[in-house]
Amino acid sequence: MSSNVSARHQAGVKMNQSTRSVRIGLDDNTSLTNEIGLGTLAQVNARGGTVVLLLFGPPGSGKGTQSRLITNWLKIPAISTGDMLRGEIAAGSKLGETAKSIMASGGLVGDDLVNQMLKARVSRTDCAGGFLLDGYPRTAEQAEFLDKLLEERRLPAPTILHLDVPADALIGRMTSRRECPKCKRIYNLLHQPPKTAGVCDDDGAALITRRDDTEEVVRERLRMYDAITRPVLAYFQYRNYYQIRGDRSPSYIFEAISGILEPLVTKNGDGRGHSPTASATS
Ligand code: AMP
Repeated sequence: MSSNVSARHQAGVKMNQSTRSVRIGLDDNTSLTNEIGLGTLAQVNARGGTVVLLLFGPPGSGKGTQSRLITNWLKIPAISTGDMLRGEIAAGSKLGETAKSIMASGGLVGDDLVNQMLKARVSRTDCAGGFLLDGYPRTAEQAEFLDKLLEERRLPAPTILHLDVPADALIGRMTSRRECPKCKRIYNLLHQPPKTAGVCDDDGAALITRRDDTEEVVRERLRMYDAITRPVLAYFQYRNYYQIRGDRSPSYIFEAISGILEPLVTKNGDGRGHSPTASATS
């Protein structure tokens, strides 16, 4: 525990004043009553608490890696709207058709489309015990929509994890990024290369550079992030909000994050409380 505390300190974790009260709120089982027909929600509630995590950070801040580590540890689904949209494109759906050119240019897909896609995903039963959102909400409209959706579904207020990385460090990082097209694992040629060049450690698939990781698109995505998404953080800043320095190694950042989340999940007694390890999942 003390190593977590020191990692949190050194990783520059900042907490706002409302943290304590929101944690107490998670213990309040009355806020999680099963009124929405999701059979497992009452059981999850009886075991402790449901966590809804929002992972924020500019493109290239390591959100994908942390999302994978956190959700492997907590056994909750990771929902990436970027991955969902890429899935729609791959499936050739109408939504995918609409999203394709917008994503290729680094713009944002329309709020209505993304909100409805997210709502459908969160309504699935695997989300009843909590979930992590990566890449959503990205606009003020999406943030307001999410608040209403969580309230409607009697889900707890979100815990916000914000990975902050200086912009100049991001461009080099992102253009060095490679993705496994099969399992979606992210590598970075600078600090997290695959064991064999160009090949996924887990399934042997040939790694790819995502179209939206080219320098021109990266610059547009960072501009978009600053212009639109940073103000969304302001919307959540006075909530259960933690800012974490993201210019450290993935395992160091994960240690800081697990130190923050541990008090929220150890009450479950269903296996989620075991010690988090970055190595077990990477
Ligand atoms: P990501 O993988 O999260 O970086 O997302 C890749 C691209 O998908 C973004 O640059 C946007 O074009 C689109 N996208 C993903 N999530 C959203 C969202 N919440 N709202 C609008 N567009 C999104």
